[in-house]
Amino acid sequence: MRTSETVGESIVAPTSLKVDGARLWQSLMELAKIGATPKGGVRRLALTDLDRQGRDLVVGWLRDAGATIEIDGAGNIFATRRGRDDTSRVVLTGSHVDTQPSGGKFDGNYGVLAGLEVLRTLNDASIVTKKPVGVAIWTNEEGTRFIPTMGGSGAFARVFTLDYLLGQRDIDGISFGEALHRIGYAGSAPVGERAVDAYFEAHIEQGPILEREDKVIGVVTGALGQRWYDCSWTGQDAHAGPTPMEARHDALRGASRMVEAVNAVALKHAPDGRATVGFMQVKPNSRNVIPGQVAMSIDVRHPDDEALAAMDRELREAAAVIARDLRLECDVRQVVEFPASHFDDECVSSVDRAAEMLGLSRRKIVSGAAHDAVYLSRVAPTSMIFVPCKDGISHNEIEDARPEHLEAGANVLLHAVLARAGI
Ligand SMILES: [Zn+2]
Repeated sequence: MRTSETVGESIVAPTSLKVDGARLWQSLMELAKIGATPKGGVRRLALTDLDRQGRDLVVGWLRDAGATIEIDGAGNIFATRRGRDDTSRVVLTGSHVDTQPSGGKFDGNYGVLAGLEVLRTLNDASIVTKKPVGVAIWTNEEGTRFIPTMGGSGAFARVFTLDYLLGQRDIDGISFGEALHRIGYAGSAPVGERAVDAYFEAHIEQGPILEREDKVIGVVTGALGQRWYDCSWTGQDAHAGPTPMEARHDALRGASRMVEAVNAVALKHAPDGRATVGFMQVKPNSRNVIPGQVAMSIDVRHPDDEALAAMDRELREAAAVIARDLRLECDVRQVVEFPASHFDDECVSSVDRAAEMLGLSRRKIVSGAAHDAVYLSRVAPTSMIFVPCKDGISHNEIEDARPEHLEAGANVLLHAVLARAGI
């Protein structure tokens, strides 16, 4: 092993230092067998037996790479590779290995296995970094089986308490805490007391921008702010035949106009505004009854908090106008708010410099989705690295990414981590 005596502290890692792309790809394909679906995707819900199998496999690989494994009370896994100065804060990377019910092979899994590949590459080159380098696997990022999303990283960043997280129940009434015990990943390390020097997360873009612009690396500067709402429309159930049009209180008409209004709000705040109605429940949902009640979701996103506040005002105004016009009652209740995240300038520059040094095409990009990195950015300097995914599709079994792009992203991760950890 090289030591500080032979290498010195300010040496920059040679451009020639590269990850093994084939090994990374093989690890991805191996992990994707656990919970593999017939259409080529993965179904590995958080804290299920399959999640345990996935964790066991990756933890085994991390141990084989010489890392020390610690597990905290939220089931977050931390694999640490020692540095010369073990009193130093850890330079951390990672992501998640749980998936959506009909998820893909790359979302989350890529970030974890790119981190593993960084450790393996450092081992192969016999490099001892100054600061320790770690790989984290965050519990229940997807929020499919248990709400909230990004549960493990949220508890780590103290966005909510561990008790709150452990008490959350799935659709069968099983608590997060029970499920965590059952798979053997209720660890003893305290949640959130780990000193993190910086956090870098590699991830597929889950959108079409990099592919459309033929860029290999997204240098992620932050994430869109989000507001989620429950919106309900109340009119009156009535017979579809005898009730004249002018006498109706049709809640579905209100909801229908609201779908257009919500989209108009996003378009007014183009190109960065996003607004979506993804869920609607019509009552009584009967062919010959005028609907008296509609519940719908509204999801609004923007990188600028002031614009997000304006979108909030505009959609509430639109709801009020529609309700008055159609003689309905409307309630718009905000249920989730994530302020816009602005990643650390220095970490963003590290990613940018690494991509430049490696001669990779790149662009700055704002993440449209939330990631574990969004919560980590509240407690440590953070940035992310995006690579393209096919047709921008994710949360789908057909999610796909090119081996050379995944390799390039892992190389950027390697050099961003090395620049921070020092050799
Ligand atoms: Zn993810």
